[in-house]
Amino acid sequence: MTEARLILDLDALAANYWALRKRAGDTELAPAVKADGYGLGAPEIADRLWLEGARSFYVARLSEGVALRRALGDRDATIYVLDGATPGSGDTLEGAGLIPVLNSLPQIEAWNAQARAGRLKAALHVDTGMNRLGLRPEEVKVLVGATDRLRRLDLDLVISHLACADTPDSPMSAHQLARFEEATALLPGARRSLANSAGLFLGEAYRFDQARPGISLYGGGPEGVPHPEICAVATVEAPILQVRVVPRGESVGYGAGWTAPDTTRVAIVAAGYADGVPRASHPNGQAWFDGARRRLLGRVSMDLLAIDITDCDAARPGAMVELFGRNLPIDEAATAAGTSAYELLTRIAPRARRVVVGR
Ligand SMILES: *Cc1c(COP(=O)(O)O)cnc(C)c1O
Repeated sequence: MTEARLILDLDALAANYWALRKRAGDTELAPAVKADGYGLGAPEIADRLWLEGARSFYVARLSEGVALRRALGDRDATIYVLDGATPGSGDTLEGAGLIPVLNSLPQIEAWNAQARAGRLKAALHVDTGMNRLGLRPEEVKVLVGATDRLRRLDLDLVISHLACADTPDSPMSAHQLARFEEATALLPGARRSLANSAGLFLGEAYRFDQARPGISLYGGGPEGVPHPEICAVATVEAPILQVRVVPRGESVGYGAGWTAPDTTRVAIVAAGYADGVPRASHPNGQAWFDGARRRLLGRVSMDLLAIDITDCDAARPGAMVELFGRNLPIDEAATAAGTSAYELLTRIAPRARRVVVGR
């Protein structure tokens, strides 16, 4: 066994779901399982969250919605597609019973036309300042002034998305909250959803009827640093291939990126950027081995990386080294590599063998 592996802990996922449930009060949790469940495997993730009580899920792409519907089989889940009613997607959305989150006036028109003589469920995305997807405030007014645009649609839910929820001091969230209240006041009757994971930690005013947590279900802290209520769901580890002694003055890896100031014991680990360990983990990155953090030495290459195991007797070929997870929080590994837990998770590569625990 010389592969890196990804250990997906479904009990930890369930624990995070319940930690967020506690924060959410009466607010429904509709997990974001886009990008194949943040890279961890949407079928397993949705399956377990369904068991814990989740009934609504968010994906980004149409194809993800179709795959999730198939994975959930005859379970009566509500699946929202954040891309909305993109051109040519109508029949597929309708056929798979997916609810598009309509992002623009043309999308509203297309979905209303798709309903033909019947009725279709829809969600609506209003932009409150992020300027990514969604109707601008003036477009919401246009819509409200011409409600026949919605005549064949059951508008189930209005959502918006927070740009700075992971920075509680930012005035942006309160600004977006006020704009969301204004926009949704024009659309009474529809349920409301504003908070992502971090939004759930901003307080009751942000909760509304439904929240859409992603990253904190998967072990990332709401502020990009570890949080005591959130536990690790994904652990990436890889075996040591070789232990060597590097004499003072010699270097390790491509570009001779690190030179030994003294005689150093080095373990060569079977993980690299082709497994999802960022190349930028050098020079600040660490790994966990034998009860302690160990420095990464030199550049991460495609298949290999090196760690400092001076003063450690347990290192031998086959022993497993953790790159992030249970012992080394994903947020810390991400920060050391200049990235986020979101990117670390979604970049875990297929070469890392998946092991699911806690079924
Ligand atoms: C991805 C996404 C979420 C989930 O956000 P997290 O920060 O992972 O909790 C919620 N809403 C929308 C619109 C998203 O795109």
